[in-house]
Amino acid sequence: MPTLQHNASADNLVISKHRLSGSDVSFTPSSNTSGPFKDSFPDTIVIHFTAGSSLSSSVNVMTNPNNKVSAHLAVGRQGEIVQMLPFNKIGWHAGKSSWQGRTSLNQYSLGIELDNAGELTPNGEGFYTSWFGGVYESSDVFKGTHRNQTAPRYWHRYTEAQIMRTFSLCQLLCRQYGITCIVGHEEIAPDRKVDPGPAFP
Ligand SMILES: [Zn+2]
Repeated sequence: MPTLQHNASADNLVISKHRLSGSDVSFTPSSNTSGPFKDSFPDTIVIHFTAGSSLSSSVNVMTNPNNKVSAHLAVGRQGEIVQMLPFNKIGWHAGKSSWQGRTSLNQYSLGIELDNAGELTPNGEGFYTSWFGGVYESSDVFKGTHRNQTAPRYWHRYTEAQIMRTFSLCQLLCRQYGITCIVGHEEIAPDRKVDPGPAFP
């Protein structure tokens, strides 16, 4: 389990003109936006898993104008970061959602997607499979009960590098934008979403 004492200042991430820079940071633009945030927003971060097979495949999905989805950032399993939207533009990651009296959280929030296969199913031979046919060893699997469920299930583990980089990102975004709330997609859309799930610390 990574320590929460990790500090963004030990990382080299910088934001300038709503664009992130640092080591292992790249920008792949997405046109999937409804334009600039209003007033004092964003003030919230929504954490997601991609339920995808790789960082690049998920970035491809979120930067294809035929798909009405996007996020500001995606974090790969080595901690590498792809930014897709500048932080002053509204993304399409939260969908139908509500939190503390607000609805449609996209207009208030930045979206961070973590490359992760999501829920896994034991195949009876010691391996686990994802919805898209990926096969995972037991060392990549976390067994835990989701906050919105009652029995334990199997989830793709996050990597420590990925979690540390996500903490760094959150610290930096909190400082730069006055973010006051970090939530999981599963908390703002509990009837439809299970990400980032119990494997996320
Ligand atoms: Zn999500």
